[in-house]
Parts: sequence; C-alpha cells; structure tokens
Amino acid sequence: MPGASGAEIGERLAKLGEMAVRCPSCGREELVLEDYLYDVPHVGRVILTSGRCRHCGYKFNDIRLAEARHPRRLVLRVEGPDDLNALVVRASSSSILIPELGLEMKPGPASQGFITTVEGVLARFLEALHVACSSPDADREACKRKEAEIVEAMRGRRSFTLVLEDPEGVSTVASSKVVEEPLKTEDVGRGG
Ligand SMILES: [Zn+2]
Repeated sequence: MPGASGAEIGERLAKLGEMAVRCPSCGREELVLEDYLYDVPHVGRVILTSGRCRHCGYKFNDIRLAEARHPRRLVLRVEGPDDLNALVVRASSSSILIPELGLEMKPGPASQGFITTVEGVLARFLEALHVACSSPDADREACKRKEAEIVEAMRGRRSFTLVLEDPEGVSTVASSKVVEEPLKTEDVGRGG
C-alpha cells in the first residue's frame, strides 16, 4: 500500500468540509484543504485531509482517527511478515521511533500524516536517508551501513521495535500485538 492518497485506503463515506488556509510554502491563503471520512479495514473510521496550494502547488496530506483516544504510546515488536504488514496511521502530530535502528520521525512545521504498513514506514525512513546522504558532506560508510540495516529490517531479517508516540490520541497501529502505554507530557517532543 503506498502512502494514503485516498481511493486505495478504504471506503469513502462522506466529504466533511473544505477550507482555504495559509500555505506554509508560499504564505498565501490559497492552500485548499478537503476533509473526507473513510472506513479503513482493520483500522476503523479515519478523517483524511488532503490539499494543494492554488498558488504554488504545495501538497499537504494528513490523517487522524475519527474518534480520538487518549494520549498514548503504542509499541509493536516487529518479528516477521505479519508485523511488517500491520497498518500504521500516523497523524502529523505523532512521532515514530525505531530505537534499534536509530530512526526518528518527529512532528514539525513540514510534518504530514499518512497511512501505510510498517514496511512502508521503513521505506519512508529509507527515502529520508537517501536525501540526507545525497549531501556532499554525508559520511558514505555510515550511509551504506544504515541503508543495509533498514533494508534487512524491510525484508524481515532483523527484528525491531516500532514506537508511535501519539499526544493527541489520533494515531494507531493496527495489530493485536501492540502494547499500549500512557504517554506523559514530558515525553512529548523530547530530544533524541
Ligand atoms: Zn503555496
């Protein structure tokens, strides 16, 4: 499953609204956001937001559970293909951490939400690594090592822990193996 752009994630139930907001890229009030309610198998009802700036073309996507839960930390021990195929709903306000691989995705001004599998999350980290490693100052050896680790994990040859820190209670990991822990406010946005 590629990153959520609508049709492939489930059944669209309704359009909830549309509004123009300030575009983070060009600053004009031309970013038109549309909210849709979807029913996603194994996940439930989600609100998908997608938009495009009429002025500069900047694209924005976000997703959140239609019914918010409490702030929480979700921990999934990934040990095989079933775990790699579990769906992850990451709202733009949430963090994803994979401690064994030293990977972190933190919320920020440019952060977007998505729905994908655990394997798809690794693919996003790999893409970010390629961008970071295309810089002339990148440490080639370290980049190669990190890439090999991520690819091993994607192929199910390396077990790891996926941690989703969700301060608004609008993200989820769809797996019966997930362990839920309370999220204290001091945990949110701590440096890594
Ligand atoms: Zn714009």
